[in-house]
Amino acid sequence: MRAFASLEPQPLDVELRSLPRPSALARELDVKPKRAALAAEALGLDTVGDLIEHFPRDHADRREAAEIANLAAGEDVTVIAQVKRISSRRARGRLTLQEATVVDQTGPMKAVWFNQPWLVDKLPAGTSVVLHGRYNGPRRGLTVKDHEIAPDATSAHSTGVVPVYRATEHLGSNRIRELVWNARDAIRDVVEPLPAWLRLAEKLPDRQAAVDAIHFPEDEDEEPAARRRLAFEELFLFELSVAARRRARDEGLTAPALEATGRLVDGWQAALPFVLTGDQRAATAAIDADIATERPMQRLLMGEVGSGKTVVALHAMLRAAENDRQAVLMAPTETLAEQHLATLDRLLGGHVPIALLTGSTPATRRREIHERLATGELALVVGTHALIEPAVGFRDLALVVVDEQHRFGVRQRAALEDKAPEGLVPHVLHMTATPIPRTLQRTVYGDLDVTALRELPAGRQPIETHVVDGARARTRAYEKAREEIAAGRQVFVVCPLVEESEALQAKAATREAEELQQGEFREQRVALIHGQMSSKDKHEAMRRFAERDADVLVATSVIEVGIDVPNASVMIIEAAERYGISQLHQLRGRIGRGEHRSLCILFGDPGLPRLKALADNRDGFELAAIDLDIRGAGDVLGTRQHGMPIFRVARLPEDDELLERAHSRAEELLDRDPRLDAPEHALLREAAAASELIPA
Ligand code: ADP
Ligand code: MG
Repeated sequence: MRAFASLEPQPLDVELRSLPRPSALARELDVKPKRAALAAEALGLDTVGDLIEHFPRDHADRREAAEIANLAAGEDVTVIAQVKRISSRRARGRLTLQEATVVDQTGPMKAVWFNQPWLVDKLPAGTSVVLHGRYNGPRRGLTVKDHEIAPDATSAHSTGVVPVYRATEHLGSNRIRELVWNARDAIRDVVEPLPAWLRLAEKLPDRQAAVDAIHFPEDEDEEPAARRRLAFEELFLFELSVAARRRARDEGLTAPALEATGRLVDGWQAALPFVLTGDQRAATAAIDADIATERPMQRLLMGEVGSGKTVVALHAMLRAAENDRQAVLMAPTETLAEQHLATLDRLLGGHVPIALLTGSTPATRRREIHERLATGELALVVGTHALIEPAVGFRDLALVVVDEQHRFGVRQRAALEDKAPEGLVPHVLHMTATPIPRTLQRTVYGDLDVTALRELPAGRQPIETHVVDGARARTRAYEKAREEIAAGRQVFVVCPLVEESEALQAKAATREAEELQQGEFREQRVALIHGQMSSKDKHEAMRRFAERDADVLVATSVIEVGIDVPNASVMIIEAAERYGISQLHQLRGRIGRGEHRSLCILFGDPGLPRLKALADNRDGFELAAIDLDIRGAGDVLGTRQHGMPIFRVARLPEDDELLERAHSRAEELLDRDPRLDAPEHALLREAAAASELIPA
């Protein structure tokens, strides 16, 4: 019998408990022995409440144990057996493998664990075990996800549908399960943050019932319903904080309304050597609509390298100039700032002056730029962090473009935005070349309006991509590269990524360049660029390559950003498996930019799904979605770096629909009760404030 309210939504009894008593959840968790207590601490389990909130990562269906002789490959199974032998060995790298032979009355089977060498002592020959996991056939055996020693068939929490917890060596899943089981009464004190109207509208069980059911579901349907409720709550609290933050930001803030006079933009557009793509037109229209009002724009322009973001940014910047105001573009590195300036200069064709301000701008030049910005004589400026120095003042800053915003701190962006005239904030356009699948955009950029440029500008050349392996393929690749050079083209060679240190990577690149110059490319001119070179040397290398003083550019991933050499038509990437999908895609975006068909050769295992995906796809958004499938959201986004919230229960993109619902409910709630002042929202306000979903 369930001890708590049923899973059916119930009208909430809004009256709070009249007699305050200490919550059982606040009790310190008592775990023995000492090392188990330490393990609990390491898992963040200090109180009974922490334990109750330590939700299972999975559930195992233990209702039926299978017989070894009857197992079919590919099935998730539970087997009750006895250990005959067990041993541990090193597999690849830091990976260790524990293999046991276990038997039941129908025969023997191999069982395998990873990275749990202590099991050799924990499960000596003769131990009876319940094993749960995936059976992969007689040769590979059972990959064990969860096991339990000498099961007590009568204990209610180890049979049936049982929870599987995130655990450690000295505090296993089963022990955690036992602790939660013993603390089950404390679930009574779990607080319900969701108001009754919301639970009724969304048909959600109350929190106590959900928490109880996620630990100890009584049948198959309970667990998903409980999980859905807890996932919704988590997403809702997230959406609520984001929406509240956005409202607070917009409240009382005024940006200058920028009228589309056309004085500069019209002539400039007519003079462009190309027409805007449909996506670019949609983006400029959205921006025009944003900046025409006093509500400060906060828009993200997302599009892979070469999708034409800079053109769109310039359109917006010119709108500021049209209104006799100023605009700045801030990039995270000098190289990027210089690249932007080059593109902008080319696009502007001398129509409007623009200056570059970085850490390397000489003092006299810098003072001159400061002066011209202060008087307003200079309407447009591109730069790095140098733009946020106190010495930089504007007469009338109206628009800020921030490239790769995740590489700037909140404070740095704020410092730039503070340079608008007293009482005003600028419109802000963020740009990123990291395509994020639509399903994740809201969680990552919840408080921005997102516009994507998917359509590549006309004139992009096809890039044939091959994944190859072995000496013969390598020889052929260099041959092909030499043929292209003979035909007047140029070649990138990208060195393996060395995560440990940039210095090592630079060294490897230097050696690679020397070897190629003396070997495969002895008749060609080889240049080198890596992250440890001085910016002067980098410049020189880029100049040589851009001006065709070099045929081959050996590079580390520094070329991921920056270089634009339309004559380069071949890219060879060494040890491609060390790079992620999006990095490889960005690298590859350096070719196929001119009038020549291009070729990208990835040295790596052709069987790797990641590399295969690259060979088969050119669309960055498509690749991002594949990447997400292969690796999961946290990894794809580098989580913290992108400010990606860390959800405990919700999973994206699977819970995307729930996220949409949570979003509209959060907006609805804030429309009704903007500050969550209503008594029925007090607990919600507390929960939202306490939620640590949004990294600072
Ligand atoms: P991003 O900033 O997204 O990397 P850019 O704006 O720098 O892309 O554009 C890359 C190149 O493509 C530039 O040389 C630019 O002039 C050119 N380009 C941009 N839009 C178009 C278009 N609609 N048609 C043809 N070429 C374009
Ligand atoms: Mg660009």
